[in-house]
Amino acid sequence: MSACKKIMMIFPHPDDESFACGGTLALCRERGQETCLICVTSGCRGRSGTYDISCREKLARHREQELGRAAEVLGISRLELFRYPDGSLATVDRQELSEKILHVILDWKPGVIITFPPDGVTGHPDHIATCHATTLAVEQAERTLAAEEYPDLYYVSIPHYYDHCSDKGPQPAVPITGKVDISGFRLQKGEALRAHLSQVYSVNRAYPGVIDGDFGVIGCYEYYTLVRSKGQPVNPKRGKEAIPLIEF
Ligand SMILES: [Zn+2]
Repeated sequence: MSACKKIMMIFPHPDDESFACGGTLALCRERGQETCLICVTSGCRGRSGTYDISCREKLARHREQELGRAAEVLGISRLELFRYPDGSLATVDRQELSEKILHVILDWKPGVIITFPPDGVTGHPDHIATCHATTLAVEQAERTLAAEEYPDLYYVSIPHYYDHCSDKGPQPAVPITGKVDISGFRLQKGEALRAHLSQVYSVNRAYPGVIDGDFGVIGCYEYYTLVRSKGQPVNPKRGKEAIPLIEF
């Protein structure tokens, strides 16, 4: 009964959830699946778009508000803010971060957990650190949970992230093994991206036009790799056939 599974996502920055999984989150809401998002930092670095916010603390609170609006658009049931400093996660003790994630996993008991892959999609150190801490947390959760409660762990990829950029991302660390059809939820994904208005520069890089309400660049699929299931690592393989459709 996959339709009953609770879906938990762990990402380091406000906006990662909309970039990577906005359509999937909206689809889950439509199907009555509960969703939980852990946002590890509040994104206090980087430019603040058209807003004149020089204080990092103020920018973090502002981005939390934007994330709250995106969470409303996407119907996220539970939002957890860890409020680590943006850009710091590579220096945070992995065990400490994984224990915080573990605590939420054991409390909420998701059937599916989604985070970035070890390449971080963009190579961002916060993305990579979040991947490692989440993977460790899932392994640790299995020591406490009953076998039927073990969550499936997926990494999300954004293969079209650099389509509109002159630069390229790192080599993907894992092959994509499934895609979710979000064609009915492109509008919600676009509106969630638009909620992150202070991140206009990064939204415009991957999704030009979206901030202005043109959602033409938003594709019909979001892409995943199952890497752990039933308490065991899965060795993701990709044949020559088209990426299969999956549902959570
Ligand atoms: Zn990010």
